[in-house]
Amino acid sequence: MPVPAAGCPKRMIFGPCGGVRSDGSCELDAALTCPWCDDRDPLAVRPWPSPTATGPAEAPAILTDLSVPPYDLAAMRDILELLAPVSDAVLVGEHQNRPDFPPTMVAAEILAAGTGPWITLTCRDRNRVVLEQELAGLAALGIDGVLCVTGDGRGQDVRPEVTQVFDLDSTRLTHLAATTGLTTAVAVAPAAPPAELRPAALAEKQRAGASLAVANHVGSPAALSSFLDRARAAGADLPVIAAVAVYTDERSAAVLAAFPGLALDPDAVAAVLAAPDPREAGIEAAVAEAEALLAVPGVAGVNLSGLASADGWRAGAEVKAEVAARVAERTRRDAGLAPGRRG
Ligand code: SF4
Repeated sequence: MPVPAAGCPKRMIFGPCGGVRSDGSCELDAALTCPWCDDRDPLAVRPWPSPTATGPAEAPAILTDLSVPPYDLAAMRDILELLAPVSDAVLVGEHQNRPDFPPTMVAAEILAAGTGPWITLTCRDRNRVVLEQELAGLAALGIDGVLCVTGDGRGQDVRPEVTQVFDLDSTRLTHLAATTGLTTAVAVAPAAPPAELRPAALAEKQRAGASLAVANHVGSPAALSSFLDRARAAGADLPVIAAVAVYTDERSAAVLAAFPGLALDPDAVAAVLAAPDPREAGIEAAVAEAEALLAVPGVAGVNLSGLASADGWRAGAEVKAEVAARVAERTRRDAGLAPGRRG
């Protein structure tokens, strides 16, 4: 029976998580070297009884993050009205510092708004039984898919009295979701250490049942292309949704830059912040990044993510909706389609 890697606070068997610090130390304990950054090969353990083939996923070309104030149904519906008409699907995150309504409830709201829900499930706040419940509920609703992640650890000042579960890690949750019959996506952090293990870890997630990957922000399309070359060589040929950094001011750029495992282009950030109209410059920078990422072989769609604006949830959603509309329009134009027609 495989056992969790020694010392890993998330008790991961299939790691590493995306939070490894740049010096190889643990996201949750700076004094601990992440065991995946030593000389062992934890990926040598492969317990899948047989490959779980769910087939290639229908990847959403424009997958927009749903960022909403917690426990505010009216605000969620208002923001969905902005995002649903311009997004092929909406991605719901699961945050360590702001829990929200249950995933099945949010998924039902997204379906009612007229677009497809992609729901993130983490292993931090739910034990295996509750994860099974959510998966069964999401499958019954017929949602587009689930994004299975281990989840970042809760900050030391965030609900310290609450247990962090980690019964499973993202790879085992992926297998559980796929065997539930759900289309399953996984996260990949190309820029996070140990870089040499990330391609094989993604291949392992595909063997466990993933049919789509959502890649964290990378410094450039060329860096993502290079990673995907190495991933294909390792056996991971699943389609990828590439993250587009959406920011229009210092705060929204800083929030993205603070995440471990994410890499932003510093020149692009500086150009947006110095522009006479940073909002317009940020929107155009995101559209340009999306177009460049969509040209990378293996990239099937883009994930519009980030705070987008320091002026509040709705202002951020308005920025992301504008980016989504422009990306869709330019994709249509490049494909030679009439305005408003999808390819
Ligand atoms: S960085 Fe992540 S995978 Fe590595 S020891 Fe810490 S929690 Fe575990």
